[in-house]
Amino acid sequence: MRGWATVECYIGRSPMANPKYAASDTPAPVAELVDTLSDGTKVKIRLPRMRACGEKDEKGKLCAGHLKRWFFFGSEVKQKFGADAEVYRCEHCKTLYLPNPDEQPRTGTLSY
Ligand SMILES: [Zn+2]
Repeated sequence: MRGWATVECYIGRSPMANPKYAASDTPAPVAELVDTLSDGTKVKIRLPRMRACGEKDEKGKLCAGHLKRWFFFGSEVKQKFGADAEVYRCEHCKTLYLPNPDEQPRTGTLSY
């Protein structure tokens, strides 16, 4: 009966049902990847109020480059997101970001 007792004890000490997700650091929200252009440029949706790039390199280091409004996109972006698309580009890794739909200005100037 010793084996049973040990198992019970182990379960009792574990407060989380699924220890896999019990890591202490909560995962940071990640910008959603919506597309990858033919030249390998990633296109993501910005998180609300996001101003710095959330891309990570192979070593897991955060890019944190500035996202700047970008007007010089080529025909591929125009085709996919419109000629007057609101596009932001990381000045460091060149990842493109589209504005977050939850982040529309509430002025009501947008009309469809
Ligand atoms: Zn970047």
